[in-house]
Amino acid sequence: MIKTLQNRFEQGYRTSRYPKEPIQLPERYRGRPQIVPDAPAELAAHCAAACPQEAIDADSKRIDMGRCVFCGTCERLSEGRFVKFTQDFEIATAQKEHLITDGSLPALADHAKQHFKKLFGRSLQLRQVSAAGCNSCEADLNVLATPFFDLARFGINFVASPRHADAIVVTGPISRNMKTALLQTYEAVPAPKAVIAVGSCTLSGGPFRGSPEITEGLDQLLPVDLFIPGCPPHPLTNLHAFLSFFK
Ligand code: SF4
Ligand code: SF4
Repeated sequence: MIKTLQNRFEQGYRTSRYPKEPIQLPERYRGRPQIVPDAPAELAAHCAAACPQEAIDADSKRIDMGRCVFCGTCERLSEGRFVKFTQDFEIATAQKEHLITDGSLPALADHAKQHFKKLFGRSLQLRQVSAAGCNSCEADLNVLATPFFDLARFGINFVASPRHADAIVVTGPISRNMKTALLQTYEAVPAPKAVIAVGSCTLSGGPFRGSPEITEGLDQLLPVDLFIPGCPPHPLTNLHAFLSFFK
């Protein structure tokens, strides 16, 4: 017992003070992409042609964050003269069209549904559905339960049964095999309920776009309330999205 207390004392307080205090991610982290507005058209076209996700529209000079897998190819090719990735991880949106961006994003809290805040502001129970994800999106959601993020301090928990949940959190490209299970899980959640799409796969099919075995976007099946881009989204991106949209 003494050893346990001593260890606890030595460890100190490990939980992040975010969102009360800002948190700085390492320089190599790729967050919100920022387009350089006066980049030459040829450079934009070159990056668009090289993008494995067809996420760049060279004419409007915008990136579709729902498709982007944040591989960094466009930044590397243009040497930052067309696209630069910032360390801003607060990139979730409430509307899918807002994911197509030149770098500016509307404040998520302004687009949150007030009745969700009223209903779930003090207690939000989430059921995770991995619809054929590669396990990275799932792992970065799972890590929110660790002492550093301590999701439960905000009254948010992942629960085992959809019948105990207020929202489903979907990851993965929604393979044909998982489609029925996903829809059944959604049906099992009592109304009112929310739908949260996490990761490029769920938003657009991600690296699996074009495959007949998947659904290219959860919004084709269910009314999505919250879109969280990334491959995978950083845990702080998920945390910011949950807090801004529901709290
Ligand atoms: S970082 Fe995104 S937009 Fe750029 S090349 Fe990769 S997938 Fe395409
Ligand atoms: S979005 Fe990326 S990290 Fe998430 S399940 Fe798909 S491939 Fe994996």
